[in-house]
Amino acid sequence: MDLNKPYLSRKNGDLWLTEDEYDNLKVSYRIKDVIYDQKSSCQDVMILDSYNFGRMLVLDGVVQTTSVDGHIYNEMISHVPMSIHPNPQKVLIIGGGDCGVAKEVAKYEGVEHIDMVEIDELVVKACIEHLPEVSGRLADPRVHYIFDDGVKFAASKKKEYDLIIVDSSDPIGPAKVLFEQSFYESLHEALKDDGMMVCQSQSPIFHADVMKQSYKRISGLFPEVKMYTAVVPTYPGGLWSFTIGSKQHIKPDTSKVRDKNTKYVNEQIVDSCFSLPQFIKEIL
Ligand code: SAM
Repeated sequence: MDLNKPYLSRKNGDLWLTEDEYDNLKVSYRIKDVIYDQKSSCQDVMILDSYNFGRMLVLDGVVQTTSVDGHIYNEMISHVPMSIHPNPQKVLIIGGGDCGVAKEVAKYEGVEHIDMVEIDELVVKACIEHLPEVSGRLADPRVHYIFDDGVKFAASKKKEYDLIIVDSSDPIGPAKVLFEQSFYESLHEALKDDGMMVCQSQSPIFHADVMKQSYKRISGLFPEVKMYTAVVPTYPGGLWSFTIGSKQHIKPDTSKVRDKNTKYVNEQIVDSCFSLPQFIKEIL
């Protein structure tokens, strides 16, 4: 275990993880234990036990998901689009290595096939073994794990999917390409004529430029585009955005999220999540 990492430090014998994405803002978590620590071909993969946010997946020093608030993000990026598309049978998840999104999509009986294209096999292995609260140790026969770059995979598909969910990390390192125009164009091509895509589009507070760029690029390709938000406490600033691009459907049937054993999402949340604060409307 190599604790000699820029984002790990010891103070008075305690181990701390510090996310320092910004010069004037640092977020530190006191760490109880290092459960898993491996370097893959594309990133540092750690599973840490923290005092306040339970077990967390950390990639290159950035918190991706935790056993305390991971369900908020995973439920919002999956159940909202699942409530809009009338009959999603074939779903593609790009990224999503913690398996939390695939677990939520697999709750829908109508879904026949889920391709999960994750660039880093170590993330899936680590989360299935050490982060069951998020991964659910997912072993559903409908879920096909494909370890490949999402950009390359999407570009090889034409009119194949009903729904594509881009559950990527921040636009740095391996995920940078998942925010590019050409990638959104590939998603449009990979979708059926009534298909739709959703992606996490970063923080309206700290990444307004990325959020606006994603929204504009998706608006340039899809006739129906909508943004919604949720609050994820371990993400910078908490407030997080999601962008939907749809070739046809855009109205949620909120009754579809009933009895899905969710901890955050319910019909009122799906109904209200598209009501955007004024400052976000002005950014877009
Ligand atoms: N919800 C988290 C967030 O918003 O920060 C992300 C969760 S998930 C762990 C992100 C996954 O995207 C990671 O496992 C990472 O390895 C994967 N990923 C990054 N770039 C990728 C690419 N080009 N193709 C496929 N997967 C990629």
